[in-house]
Amino acid sequence: MSEHWGDKAACRSIYPETFFPPGRVDSVNRQKQVQVAVAVCTPCKVRRECADDAIRRNAAHGVVAGVDLGDNSSSHSLTPECERALRAVADGVA
Ligand code: SF4
Repeated sequence: MSEHWGDKAACRSIYPETFFPPGRVDSVNRQKQVQVAVAVCTPCKVRRECADDAIRRNAAHGVVAGVDLGDNSSSHSLTPECERALRAVADGVA
């Protein structure tokens, strides 16, 4: 049986809430939690696959592949800016 990329995710043993910081994007506390999530994602071995998956899923919130997609009050779909950021990760240029 082939291994799924998610099996190698650095976030597997971390509370999912870590990647969905509460508060609005301009909240200092939220920004601190975003930094924690980004610190987990940055060395993740499957960051590129994760970014590609987020684009396919049209992910709209939280921190995915080290990219802050926004809070729950923002768009319900992936913004063009976030899609560009995720594409750069997926392509290995960010
Ligand atoms: S890049 Fe971040 S969100 Fe994606 S699998 Fe790795 S640790 Fe999890």
